[in-house]
Amino acid sequence: QHHDGDGAPLGMPLGEHEELHQAITGDQLFLEYQPQVDVATGRITGIEALVRWNHPAKGRVPPVNFIPLAEETGLIVPLGLWVLNEACRQARAWQDMGLAPVTIAVNVSAKQFADPDFASHVAEALERHRLQSHWLELEVTESVVMQDAERALAMMESLRAIGVRLSIDDFGSGYSSLAALKTFPFDRLKMDRSLVEALPGDKTAVAIASAVISLAQTLKLSVLAEGVETDAQMDFLRQARCEEAQGYRFSRPVSPEAATLLLQAQSI
Ligand code: C2E
Ligand code: CA
Ligand code: CA
Ligand code: CA
Repeated sequence: QHHDGDGAPLGMPLGEHEELHQAITGDQLFLEYQPQVDVATGRITGIEALVRWNHPAKGRVPPVNFIPLAEETGLIVPLGLWVLNEACRQARAWQDMGLAPVTIAVNVSAKQFADPDFASHVAEALERHRLQSHWLELEVTESVVMQDAERALAMMESLRAIGVRLSIDDFGSGYSSLAALKTFPFDRLKMDRSLVEALPGDKTAVAIASAVISLAQTLKLSVLAEGVETDAQMDFLRQARCEEAQGYRFSRPVSPEAATLLLQAQSI
């Protein structure tokens, strides 16, 4: 029986691993962008880049269906590098259009963060796209940093030396978020959607969200609420002095063209 270069039998459907490899090298990935807004003014202060896969047969595959596979196979490293470069390229393109600069936020997985070359990849991406480092924010979850704390701390210090910002993502969704805050030099805390969902009706949710916001203030971290969907949630966050918010209330993740329109609308 004949085999192609990847080891899959000729004429057989590719395995998931090969498919994902082709996605990365073959132009099937793209980014959508979701605005992050200042709670007090409503202005867009940042944009999170979220990866999508346009599969040739299955169509649009959401990240929950391929990021875990990418993690297991190590393909997350080239995938993440593509995301980083594409996000920086887009941020540069927006600045070149004369739009008011915003932070571009990129998600970083555990394997990427554990790669000793990661900090130099970040520096290279900034250089290549002539983007000042403070416009790039890297989002990591506590599990990314808690796996090998010593190595993660060294990586964070290298990244801070470059000047990029670091945020703790999905804060409050895990078990040891507090320990991560104590050990690692984050700039920003992103409060998980699960803590925002039941606001403002649920008393326990109000108590927890208020505590997280004041904790962030005490630790001199800026705080952003994720998954904000309603005006009532916004009113609560404004009163509680949460600085920023992200969620369907403002915009779903959108195409680069639609994100450009959102940025243009506030630049006039
Ligand atoms: P995340 O980093 O927590 O991203 C936020 C997710 O919540 C996104 O899902 C977004 O579409 C969704 N979301 C935003 N606002 C709302 C809202 O108001 N309500 C609800 N119900 N959902 C909202 P998405 O795009 O499907 O991404 C899922 C996860 O996949 C991300 O969670 C992140 O962990 C991962 N991911 C996405 N892109 C990348 C990437 O480039 N690299 C890595 N390593 N992971 C990524
Ligand atoms: Ca994120
Ligand atoms: Ca998140
Ligand atoms: Ca999440």
